[in-house]
Amino acid sequence: MRILLAEDSRYQRAMLQGQLEFWGHSVICAETGDAALQMLSAPNAPRLAILDWDMPGKTGPEICRQLRNQDGDYIYTILLTARDSHVEIADGLTGGADDFISKPAHMLELRARIHVGERIVAIHDELKCARERLQFEATHDALTGLWNRRAILKFVETELARCARNGGSCSVLMIDIDHFKNINDEYGHAAGDRVLIEIAGRSGEVVRPYDFLGRYGGEEFLAVLPGADLDGAREVAERMRLTARSVRFDEQPALEVSMSIGCAEFTRGQSANELIQMADAALYAAKRNGRDRVEPAIASIPVSGKCVSMPVMSFAR
Ligand code: GH3
Ligand code: MG
Ligand code: MG
Ligand code: MG
Repeated sequence: MRILLAEDSRYQRAMLQGQLEFWGHSVICAETGDAALQMLSAPNAPRLAILDWDMPGKTGPEICRQLRNQDGDYIYTILLTARDSHVEIADGLTGGADDFISKPAHMLELRARIHVGERIVAIHDELKCARERLQFEATHDALTGLWNRRAILKFVETELARCARNGGSCSVLMIDIDHFKNINDEYGHAAGDRVLIEIAGRSGEVVRPYDFLGRYGGEEFLAVLPGADLDGAREVAERMRLTARSVRFDEQPALEVSMSIGCAEFTRGQSANELIQMADAALYAAKRNGRDRVEPAIASIPVSGKCVSMPVMSFAR
């Protein structure tokens, strides 16, 4: 393990460094508290630190306190102290140190305490991985890896709030694979799943890095395009539609996929729901008008408190 050893006494430092290296650790040394804190705050810092209590610059307990207020990977700290006051040791531990060892350090004891530290660091890393995995699963669709419905709806809300505050445009696309039920019926459910995965991946390549694409439902996707007006959204939608048409699948007889897409641009005062309803209505117009097409909704007319979309002319193909 990589260990930071902060000790101002050259003799103690050399002796401890030699011992730690003998046990197979890789040791980085600091002669002052300030240097130690700097090393522990840098990216990819050692995850275990043995800190002398009294050093020029920051003391060991001060370093521990600062580390606990800092984000990033958990660094396990062992204070080395010649002090034997219970009050001081209790203060050091309460302030953020994980453990302490009295000077002169007994080597067997030091080795055992380092093992404890390694165990705690490993548990922290497992917890962090589990938390990240849960966070990913809570926000992503298991089949396609796209944002899930909850996450994509959240992005619509956030982006519209940003537009309402700062001005600027935002559009959404409601995307639906045409006759997907037939694909399942003719080629089987597994082939249907492969189509969803492939189409999701290829559609994701068409949008910009700061756009959002999510799985809204079975074979329906929702894209949020911050900064895009209706014309921009139609261009993205048309690229997506053409990309879906160009995908070649291994299935026999040849499996072809097309998508219908409804686009809507945010207007001030509109809610996320209303904007999505507009895109959805435009999508249904695309279905009615023959599928495999992009249909924009250009206006919303409030009808008894509800917004009704008005899909207009179809996008030239
Ligand atoms: P339209 O062109 O009008 O959209 O017709 P469609 O057949 O695509 O639409 P419909 O709503 O009738 O059928 C959608 C189908 O998508 C039905 C459902 O079984 C299928 N589906 C939903 N989720 C999944 C999935 O995760 N995997 C697979 N293979 N199929 C799914
Ligand atoms: Mg000292
Ligand atoms: Mg469909
Ligand atoms: Mg559908």
